[in-house]
Amino acid sequence: MPQEMIKVYDTLSAKKEVLMPRVPGQIKIYGCGPTVYGYTHVGNGRTFLTQDLVVRILRLAGYQVLYARNYTDIDDKIILKAEAEKKTSEAVASFYTKAFDQNMADLEIVKPDYSPRATETIPSIIQMIEGLIKKNLAYVSNGDVYYRVDKFARYGCLSHRKLKDMMTGTRIEADEQKENVVDFALWKNAKPGEPSWKSPWGSGRPGWHIECSAMIHDIFDDALDIHMGGLDLIFPHHENEIAQSEGLTEKKLATYWVHGGMLEVGKEKMSKSLGNLMTISDFIKDYGAETMRLLFAQNHYRSPLEFSSEAILRSEALVDRLYLCKKKALESSASAPTKLPAELEALNSRIKESLFDDFNGAKAMGLILAAARVCFRENKPEFWKAWGDCLSLLDEVFGLTKRDPDQALSENRNRRLARMKISAEESQRIDSKLLERLSLREQKKFAEADQVRKDLETQGIVVMDGPDGTTWTVAV
Ligand code: AMP
Ligand code: ZN
Repeated sequence: MPQEMIKVYDTLSAKKEVLMPRVPGQIKIYGCGPTVYGYTHVGNGRTFLTQDLVVRILRLAGYQVLYARNYTDIDDKIILKAEAEKKTSEAVASFYTKAFDQNMADLEIVKPDYSPRATETIPSIIQMIEGLIKKNLAYVSNGDVYYRVDKFARYGCLSHRKLKDMMTGTRIEADEQKENVVDFALWKNAKPGEPSWKSPWGSGRPGWHIECSAMIHDIFDDALDIHMGGLDLIFPHHENEIAQSEGLTEKKLATYWVHGGMLEVGKEKMSKSLGNLMTISDFIKDYGAETMRLLFAQNHYRSPLEFSSEAILRSEALVDRLYLCKKKALESSASAPTKLPAELEALNSRIKESLFDDFNGAKAMGLILAAARVCFRENKPEFWKAWGDCLSLLDEVFGLTKRDPDQALSENRNRRLARMKISAEESQRIDSKLLERLSLREQKKFAEADQVRKDLETQGIVVMDGPDGTTWTVAV
């Protein structure tokens, strides 16, 4: 199958480039995965959904994609959590790995072809560190091993920083014996009671950065097409991966570096350490997995995104709207003309073009939503039939509207009622009030109809009139 031309914004060159795979027709992708010491939050979810979007678009464009995403299952944070909970690090890591896998399955994120774990990569990590020591790019200090940053001339190439600027404002921790403040740990001497592995430098455990370099070596022979992660990983994590892998192999680790924007709360990154997070499980319970997918799909993957209840509720309502489109498309008569109405044709022709231009799902989604508006406005079989084209893309690229529309609409409604703590009887009462209002309006008794809406509003019910009828929600 011939492949479409794809443009990709590369953090390293800071330019949009034409994607040239190392092996024709094949793209090898590595995305940094979770550190499994707590429940995954919606911010992490954005990053993994960005990886999902890129993989899906590349497959749509005809590429064979090989996708790896790791688990960091040994780390200071895991050790601290294990101490606090009086559990082993293995128990903590295995518990949160399962929780993460469940979140990814609920969000229908494409399954990676490879899911390596740090604890299963130790032999390659040790081998790599030995190679770096031999090349004078690393040194042993008191059972720790550090990377000698000033020996790697390109250090700073990805984050576009200068070494001398990095040296100011950084300090050496009391327990580190480094030659230079910017040097980073490849191997950490084990403290009593910590999980450890035997190495030529004594018992210890790997630093965080080296695991990704070793995994990319094992799986892809140091030859990646695309390396992905959140923007927060550019420095130091990805900068260090380049120093480790390229320092050792003298080959380019990844042709393109693709970074996703942060999910923010009040302009600050959503993060475990700031405690401003919502877990993926809580989000799905209250708003559904498709609401999260659509929320992110409407925003460019590289832009920061403010997490707000208004944006969530808008996306939730749009999921229902897309299901209404699907319902109409399935009901539209089979004898409707097959030629696409011109207005839809014009929108449709730009959807794939947007997807292939630096994975601009946001623009593509904007075009799909515009097509939905046209369909609702015209409300004719040939328009709804044309929705079929959007339907397959919504499923293939955005993982949306896969369910049966009636079932999905009713599940979504029940979830909303549960969230708003409204009983089925109460919901029926509101529905019948709205029917009463409709009939008053049809009789042109507008003042009385308005009174029904006002009464509901004083009870905290917001009535929303749209092109496809009236819906209601509870005021937030
Ligand atoms: P962690 O488990 O903290 O190592 O994070 C896993 C992934 O989530 C990394 O690729 C981070 O870049 C990403 N990430 C963390 N916080 C956010 C956020 N607020 N928005 C988007 N991505 C995030
Ligand atoms: Zn990594």
